[in-house]
Amino acid sequence: MRAWSVIEPGPVGAGPLRLVEKPVPVPGDDELLVRVRACGVCRTDLHVAEGDLPVRRPGVTPGHEVVGEVVGFGAAVGGFAVGERVGVAWLRRTDGTCRYCARGSENLCPASSYTGWDADGGYAEYTTVPAAFAYRLPGGLDDVSLAPLLCAGIIGHRALRRSALPPGGRLGLYGFGGSAHLCAQVAMAEGATVHVLTRGADARKLALDLGAASARGPYEMPPEPLDSAILFAPAGELVPGALRALDRGGTLAIAGIHLSDVPGLRYESELFYEKQLRSVTSNTREDGREFLALVAEHSVHATTHSYPLSRADEALRDLAAGRFDGAAVLVNDLS
Ligand SMILES: [Zn+2]
Ligand SMILES: [Zn+2]
Repeated sequence: MRAWSVIEPGPVGAGPLRLVEKPVPVPGDDELLVRVRACGVCRTDLHVAEGDLPVRRPGVTPGHEVVGEVVGFGAAVGGFAVGERVGVAWLRRTDGTCRYCARGSENLCPASSYTGWDADGGYAEYTTVPAAFAYRLPGGLDDVSLAPLLCAGIIGHRALRRSALPPGGRLGLYGFGGSAHLCAQVAMAEGATVHVLTRGADARKLALDLGAASARGPYEMPPEPLDSAILFAPAGELVPGALRALDRGGTLAIAGIHLSDVPGLRYESELFYEKQLRSVTSNTREDGREFLALVAEHSVHATTHSYPLSRADEALRDLAAGRFDGAAVLVNDLS
């Protein structure tokens, strides 16, 4: 099969990915073999391609927002049928036995592995997934619309819960790409007032079109104090301003897996009055199932920008340059 491979991590403009021939993967005993139909482009793929994340599997095929169909499975798999549509997401496997898994925090499992980082992902004709970590997908949505929900959507949802937004609260979103625009829709459907702070004029327009109460630049103050905020932009320099924008007792959640350094914080204006600063690490399968159920309930809709899978490198370059709003999705044109 043909698959994209990170040959040598580096700036995306220098072409760290190549389209290569790889054998069709053989599913393990507890795994599904999935023919990729669509695969979302996540900022984490960019971090893998550019080397912001250390290499865990040389020549890895990125991609962890896969919508595909089951074409085979290992001997120990039950409950899945050939032809069934499934989702493959970032969290690939956990040990299920450590203290974190035991208390329902499998996102913190030290033995966890990840699709498109530890194992080959969806920028390919075929991929595999442990059956226990495959998602069943809601009907009524096409492959392209579903793909960004599988990481951008799920992580945004966990970030929303980590931001401890009170009912009817005021939520600030710093950055407004694939994840934030999905998170905003759930938050508003649940009664929140959403303020968006982001640099792109197109992204600000999308925010207002989706119903945000305001859209300003990332270094501006929102028009009212925030109960909660989520930092989606991978820019640590935005943290102090986002903390100052919080009301007393407010919470700032950092959604990204990678963040540039956070500058020094001033205690009085940025942390005192019981403001909280939290990170978000991966997600649990329960987060995913909860979010996919909300998608159906609230008609959450991903704004997508399609590319043929054969042009994945271009999609990553456009993501790096902020050339589209919403989420890029690769559509399999290779098979
Ligand atoms: Zn564990
Ligand atoms: Zn992702």
